[in-house]
Amino acid sequence: MSIINFVVVGYGGMGSYHAHHLIPSEKDRVRVVGTYDISEERQHISKDKGFQVYGSLEEVLSDSYIDAILIATPNDVHKEIAIQALRAGKHVVCEKPVAMNTQELDEIVAIAEETGNVFMVHQNRRWDPDFLIIRQLYQSKRIGDIFQIESRVQGANGIPGDWRHLQKHGGGMLLDWGVHLLDQLLWLVNSPIKSVQADLSYILGDEVDDGFMSYITFENGVKALVEVGTTNYTKLPRWYVKGLEGTAKINDWDLSGEIIAATGRKDIQAPTPIQAGVGLTKTMAPPSEEATEKIAFPEPKADFVPFYQNFYEVVREGAEPIVKNHEVRNVMKVIEEIFMVSHNN
Ligand code: NAD
Repeated sequence: MSIINFVVVGYGGMGSYHAHHLIPSEKDRVRVVGTYDISEERQHISKDKGFQVYGSLEEVLSDSYIDAILIATPNDVHKEIAIQALRAGKHVVCEKPVAMNTQELDEIVAIAEETGNVFMVHQNRRWDPDFLIIRQLYQSKRIGDIFQIESRVQGANGIPGDWRHLQKHGGGMLLDWGVHLLDQLLWLVNSPIKSVQADLSYILGDEVDDGFMSYITFENGVKALVEVGTTNYTKLPRWYVKGLEGTAKINDWDLSGEIIAATGRKDIQAPTPIQAGVGLTKTMAPPSEEATEKIAFPEPKADFVPFYQNFYEVVREGAEPIVKNHEVRNVMKVIEEIFMVSHNN
């Protein structure tokens, strides 16, 4: 089957990552032919890198040699570019967040269905090694049924860049990082949502959120805390996950951390009380030695193919997409709910 020829639309930070790393890593299936960016500076850089530089989106879309486009522009123009491309007969990979809201996504998906072209969102953090470890723990029940998940990313650099500070471009951290963490969580737990509580933060005085905390309860009983912070000078673990028979902590993307599991032995002694501040406690004392054991992290292996391999198989072989548009919509609905409940606080 023939290779899929791409044009990267929006050759900025993430567009160039697709052009130089992600798409070339599947070089037998997909390749980047050229780029289109409204910035002259980015056009020059692209030309220097040897790409064909297109002067307009129309020029890209009328090139019959091009099969697909990758959209990596600011969030507010994803929809208009996606719809034009789908109507022109191109397949589309779109960066997250797919669009500004569910209504925009519905418009895109309607055109994809009408034209029969593929529209897939790059929710790449489903392939993150730290997430794959948590996913294996969740599925294998190695620490028992997982009932509480804390998923956080925290930095101290504020909101990055230019357009991410502005509402009209779809800025803010909920749409930026929140969409990743929520996509991972919803895909992992795979249960309808019962309730959402949230609080967006505006510590830095921007018109968009510089972070948020949210509490999500699923109908299957799992509870999650999802947090994004950009004002954290020291951070909490990336993941803190409690199962009925153990607790897992992954500190960061370096995969440091630990899993402590209950041994389930019959001969467990009561814990010895410890001095705690100016008091004494047995409740908060470490469990006796035979009660718990440290177990190794499972290998962070995906039991699904890489993103661009999947995209190729969807387009050329009719395979099922790993990132499904209805899943993307569910995430967008939670984002809308977080905006709503937080603003009503
Ligand atoms: P960026 O500002 O670095 O790049 C955006 C580029 O788009 C710029 O070069 C700009 O000139 C260009 N552009 C703006 N409007 C355009 C238009 N109408 N047509 C063509 N080009 C246009 O931003 P970024 O950090 O690369 O983010 C781009 C997108 O990628 C966003 O949607 C962002 O959320 C997403 N992103 C995803 C990840 C991920 O891990 N999946 C990481 C970073 C960014």
